[in-house]
Amino acid sequence: MKLAVFSSKPYDKRYIEAARSAAAARGAASPAARPASADIDIVFHEFALEEDTVILAKGADAICAFVNDSLSAPVIEALAREGIKAILLRCAGFNHVDLVAAEKAGIMVANVPSYSPEAVAEFAVALIQTLNRKTHRAYNRAREGNFALDGLMGQTLFGKTVGFIGTGKIGVATAKIMKGFGCRILAYDPFPTPAFEGIGEYKGLDEVLAESNIISLHCPLMDSTRRIINEEAIAKMKPGALLINTSRGGLVDTKAVIRALKAQHLGGVALDVYEGEGSLFYDDHSGEIIHDDVLMRLMTFHNVIVTGHQAFFTEEALMEIADCTLRNIDEFVVTGTCKNSLTKDLKLVKRDSLPVRGV
Ligand code: NAD
Repeated sequence: MKLAVFSSKPYDKRYIEAARSAAAARGAASPAARPASADIDIVFHEFALEEDTVILAKGADAICAFVNDSLSAPVIEALAREGIKAILLRCAGFNHVDLVAAEKAGIMVANVPSYSPEAVAEFAVALIQTLNRKTHRAYNRAREGNFALDGLMGQTLFGKTVGFIGTGKIGVATAKIMKGFGCRILAYDPFPTPAFEGIGEYKGLDEVLAESNIISLHCPLMDSTRRIINEEAIAKMKPGALLINTSRGGLVDTKAVIRALKAQHLGGVALDVYEGEGSLFYDDHSGEIIHDDVLMRLMTFHNVIVTGHQAFFTEEALMEIADCTLRNIDEFVVTGTCKNSLTKDLKLVKRDSLPVRGV
């Protein structure tokens, strides 16, 4: 079995190689149950997967991709021509994958459905805390010997209302932490979960927007959720509300957010994800001219924090991503599918009509 890993960084290589060594150790301890991943041949490519780089998959049986790799129909068809049988995603979200094209091409697509919801939740809370108490500004000031407090005033979170759009694994984990702060928790989710019981109250989207001091996004990006935070939605939010997005950039109409910041309707925005992140995030562009005027305008606001899609980035999450990716391969080699397959039940139906719970 040969696996081509795209968009790989040194840390991906380290954790995937460690997972393969662990599989080899398990295989040595019990040779009869030696997993395929113990002997897998892995090629690491720094390049992102796109039409021009599909050729790097030549000779591989499967590829491993991340959030900003392109898995459009033309890329998937080209992968099929190279003989790829499986696409292993090192992430939970699959909005960037044309699952219908994959099913047509007979390629299994599997994700890592849950690698550490708490890692993302804790980062969302870090963004709330930073944005509210302005520690990003205080840090810079103190280093310059400026200990003045003007402009650094925040609000006590105790007693404030936090609204969640999406109460899956990450939404619930974040809501639990914010409840611990003494916040009132509201949520909108078309598929309510018992896991949210005792934490907060479900309401309609408009009510959540109108009643919350902080809105935190935790739903997947689908046709039905694209730009769920647009001009209209922002207008329904409380003046001075904070917006936090650790889910997917496409959930937010960034230009509408900029207008609301200029009008001082939004009190602050923290984005770990951005709709145009594909050509920028995960690489160092500090010595270049960045041509994305929307992102650059956004970053001129003192009450905006942008991070480079790092909410998942903990040791524990990387370990689980690597282990789960190899478990997906082992299951695929034996059965031709795996429990995390996103294509097995997809009979060429429209993606938005799929139940989204558990993906
Ligand atoms: P999940 O599948 O457990 O939960 C998603 C929830 O969204 C579900 O409860 C679903 O019912 C709900 N939902 C679906 N449509 C909705 C709508 N129209 N409005 C409101 N809610 C809706 O997923 P999760 O593990 O909690 O992850 C959530 C998202 O976080 C993922 O889709 C992914 O895009 C993102 N994510 C980001 C990072 C990061 O590093 N920033 C890491 C992991 C995941």
